Amino acid sequence: MRIANAAGRLVLMTPDGLGLDVESASDGRFGADPQGVYDRWDEFRTWADTAPLDAAEPIADGDLRAVTPRPPQVFAVGLNYRDHAAESGFELPAEPLVFTKYASSFTGPTGDITLSPGDVDWEVELVAVIGTGGRAIAEDRAWAHVAGLTLGQDISDRVAQFAAPPPQFGLGKSYPGFSPVGPHLVTLDELRDNGHDPDDLELGCLVNGESVQKSRTSEMIFTVPVIIARLSAIVTLLPGDVVFTGTPAGVGVGMTPPRFLQAGDELTTWCTGIGEMRHRFVST
Ligand code: ZN
Repeated sequence: MRIANAAGRLVLMTPDGLGLDVESASDGRFGADPQGVYDRWDEFRTWADTAPLDAAEPIADGDLRAVTPRPPQVFAVGLNYRDHAAESGFELPAEPLVFTKYASSFTGPTGDITLSPGDVDWEVELVAVIGTGGRAIAEDRAWAHVAGLTLGQDISDRVAQFAAPPPQFGLGKSYPGFSPVGPHLVTLDELRDNGHDPDDLELGCLVNGESVQKSRTSEMIFTVPVIIARLSAIVTLLPGDVVFTGTPAGVGVGMTPPRFLQAGDELTTWCTGIGEMRHRFVST
């Protein structure tokens, strides 16, 4: 199953890429708010199995918004790929390095993103969205708590991040538009049915058509189940929470010389089995 946010309304995607408006197709049983569906995830999944897909309609790419527009909590993991830790000059972490991206920075999978004053960098990331919340979730049960996977960019202002030692993460990664997610939320069974392993997805991004990041999620130091187990050992996870799972090598700050996004640059972000996002950067 795939769901999306079309101009602020929850839609169920058909295999042909059409979108079924959930509120009208369910006669109001489920609301239009894309964020609200995670509170009734199991019930929604059951309904979706018999939804009247023949009422689905085309959706313009430009109408897609963040599939999690207002997550209750946002977790992000730093230095979660060995090659990225090396290019950043850090030791491999023994525990997940967790920070947040503030929810006001969320945006959809297409459109313009306004550059912040500092050096703006890209970070392709797999994003897990929590369906069933909880605390003390065991690693071997963790996937069952995931509603699905989507794609994210952890856009980062490196000047704000490294303004003074020690580096800090949340603010420099939370300018408006710095957390695009989408294009769809894809369930694990949908990925498997299409021949994809949720633990081994290929992902990457391109700047103006030039590939800068390309890796596989099997290269993560801490897998999605491990991250969920470690987070929920401390925090109560809530339906609709979002977990950015870290970025592989190839970020601009790791290049020689460093390279950052400029006005007019186009960033294309992709993940097998999930889809693609396209953004253009503009100056203020
Ligand atoms: Zn990141």
